[in-house]
Amino acid sequence: MKAVVYEGPRQVSTKDVPDAKIERPTDVLVRVTTTNICGSDLHMYEGRTSFEVGRTFGHENMGEVIEVGSGVEKVRVGDRVVLPFNISCGFCKNCERGLTNYCLTTQPDPSAAGAAYGFADMGPYGGGQAELLRVPFGDHNALRLGEDAEEKENDYVMLSDIFPTGYHATEMAGVIPGDSVVIAGAGPVGLMAALSATIKGAAKVMVVDRHPDRLALAEQIGAIAIDDSKTDPVQAVLDETMGLGADRGCECVGYQAHDPQGNEDTAATLNMLINSVRFTGGIGTVGVFVPQDPGAKGELAKQGKAAIDFGTHWFKGQTMGNGQAPVKKYNRQLRDLIAAGKATPSWIVSHEISLDQAADAYKNFDSRSKGWTKVLIKPGM
Ligand code: NAD
Ligand code: ZN
Repeated sequence: MKAVVYEGPRQVSTKDVPDAKIERPTDVLVRVTTTNICGSDLHMYEGRTSFEVGRTFGHENMGEVIEVGSGVEKVRVGDRVVLPFNISCGFCKNCERGLTNYCLTTQPDPSAAGAAYGFADMGPYGGGQAELLRVPFGDHNALRLGEDAEEKENDYVMLSDIFPTGYHATEMAGVIPGDSVVIAGAGPVGLMAALSATIKGAAKVMVVDRHPDRLALAEQIGAIAIDDSKTDPVQAVLDETMGLGADRGCECVGYQAHDPQGNEDTAATLNMLINSVRFTGGIGTVGVFVPQDPGAKGELAKQGKAAIDFGTHWFKGQTMGNGQAPVKKYNRQLRDLIAAGKATPSWIVSHEISLDQAADAYKNFDSRSKGWTKVLIKPGM
């Protein structure tokens, strides 16, 4: 089958690799119809992780079931399914509590937790930027879609990661109706956090970034755009909230954050949120801060460290939740909002491409070329 393969820092190629196949009775085999490039792929693409040369990318996947293992009870051949990026078992200590993001069965390293398709340090699983994908524990890991699956494909594929991830940021921050919410980052994840805050009934959503095309997408759903290359974002949030600070903050950037001058500063977004969220407010951090990062530019980023203003965070009595999103926890509800026409996450899609166009797309998305917000690969194209 054709797949998008990692060749070394800032190099991918589309090449023939062995077909994905059923390996265990509980597996499901999917013909991939859409598979997205994610900001998380860039950590591996840029060579900052231990991702091995030759591995296939792709954790935001959707497709049609073409074969099921003998132990699969629920999922059927022909089902249209979207696959949460977390690969989980459903029966370990963490999965039982809904923490499928920290599954203990699918992660082979006993000192770690959590697995994903096509990802560094998240198990040996193949990615979905390919024609075929093996889905372990298929009954548990495939979310079945209705008859509108093809018609709303570009919306439903967002259920694999960024829509639930943005939603998780708002959950950890504690967003409730009437809240004011500040979001760091107008990338795909930040935009999904803005959509989620809006769905939850936030009174005011403010999105901070510096790319005009991305900020314009935030404005399209009614958010206030704050360009941190032109204005101090903390002051802008205070001005919007009568000097009190926002009720909630969502961190959707991670360790690639830039400071207001555009220099890399791992702590820039966290400090912006600590200083612009009110006393006793909540912050949810979904941006990735990974440890042991040999290729990162700054010394702190290399260790996944961020020099945050903990004193202010403590003094203000704020809460902060962090980590990967447990996609399964939210994706049925979010699926049903899409089906009902109450959420249209595809508004951020900028490009639909074939597998053969992946190398060029990675280059453009990585350099945040104007207009390259969200790239959907269509293996059938
Ligand atoms: P992206 O890189 O496309 O977007 C990040 C945006 O942040 C960019 O537009 C950039 O200009 C902006 N930015 C940089 N510094 C900033 C600052 N100081 N203030 C405000 N904005 C700033 O990435 P994405 O796809 O949106 O993903 C964002 C983060 O979320 C990444 O770290 C990704 O790995 C992570 N992620 C986490 C999960 C999870 O489960 N927790 C899931 C998916 C993605
Ligand atoms: Zn992703």
